[in-house]
Amino acid sequence: MITKEQDDYLSDLNEELFGKINTLTVELEIARLEFTQIFDAVSDPLWVIDNEYAVIHINRSFLKLLKIHSKTSVLGKKCYEILNYGLCQTDNCPLKFIKQNNQSAEFDIELDITKGDKSSFLLTASHFSGLAGETIGVVIQYKDISKRKQYERDLQTANKQLEELVRIDGLTQIANRRFFDEVLQKEWLRMQRSRKPIALIMIDIDFFKLYNDNYGHAKGDDCLKKVAALIKSCMHRSHDLAARYGGEEFVCVLPESDHTGAATVANSILNAIRDSKIPHEYSKIADHITVSIGCYCMIPDRNHNAETIIVKADSLLYNSKESGRNKFTINNS
Ligand code: GH3
Ligand code: MG
Ligand code: MG
Repeated sequence: MITKEQDDYLSDLNEELFGKINTLTVELEIARLEFTQIFDAVSDPLWVIDNEYAVIHINRSFLKLLKIHSKTSVLGKKCYEILNYGLCQTDNCPLKFIKQNNQSAEFDIELDITKGDKSSFLLTASHFSGLAGETIGVVIQYKDISKRKQYERDLQTANKQLEELVRIDGLTQIANRRFFDEVLQKEWLRMQRSRKPIALIMIDIDFFKLYNDNYGHAKGDDCLKKVAALIKSCMHRSHDLAARYGGEEFVCVLPESDHTGAATVANSILNAIRDSKIPHEYSKIADHITVSIGCYCMIPDRNHNAETIIVKADSLLYNSKESGRNKFTINNS
């Protein structure tokens, strides 16, 4: 039997408890509202996945990215059903990764949300913990880094183009003098070490001043381009290099070439240009463009440097000019 006193006491207690519950409910609602507002205010897409891969929170920015209108259509679903990408079903799945006692994880990923239109994201994953500090899921943030990635790609392309520009002659689009010097030096030393022969071919267009003076500089430039392409077409091995030496002079470096091989290449250049019959009615030796060639072949020794072979080939080129042009001269083997 409860006395009136006890009944009053219980009523007061009841009232107090209801009051506390009400206060806690309001506080909880405020906390939930605050959490949602803060979560939605984050501009990067963000979601929380529980240990069973179910989506338990998703922010507005993520919904916008996924082009989904309501949170309810995502919450409770498995994350990989909503968004499946390279890391899913691998050991680098952010949830698996975090559960293997990793503090946090960062991955560069590509998402193909609008079909065929890939965007790059920096994915950051961190623990989602319960009251006792145990891992109950993972918080994943996706930062759009497409612009940064595009800048990186543009920079790479620009660097490649710059590298090419430094090596290529602007007019003829074959290697320039600078690159030739580099290659000759490298191949000279390589042949010196392996005691194998290297050949240098110097080519000079005959009566080119007369060509320029009569057809004009623009036609002269066209002719240089054609001659360069013809010379390049005679290079057949990966280490062979054709370059513009300057003006209407060209050079070829032929590593691991003996006299016979070098003579064959020199002859093929002479014939390729002769046979292309680029008209030159002002030439004193033919009615088309011809060249004179000097070719020197040697095994590099320690008493000489790479300059030697240039001087020798140039001197043989002079012999070809002096003895009538439209020919090649090579040193005796
Ligand atoms: P040779 O048979 O003795 O070699 O006579 P050549 O007239 O070919 O030699 P020369 O050295 O007297 O003249 C070379 C000419 O090449 C002079 C110049 O007008 C021309 N030349 C040099 N560089 C260029 C160029 O980049 N473009 C054009 N169009 N002409 C050039
Ligand atoms: Mg010349
Ligand atoms: Mg000339």
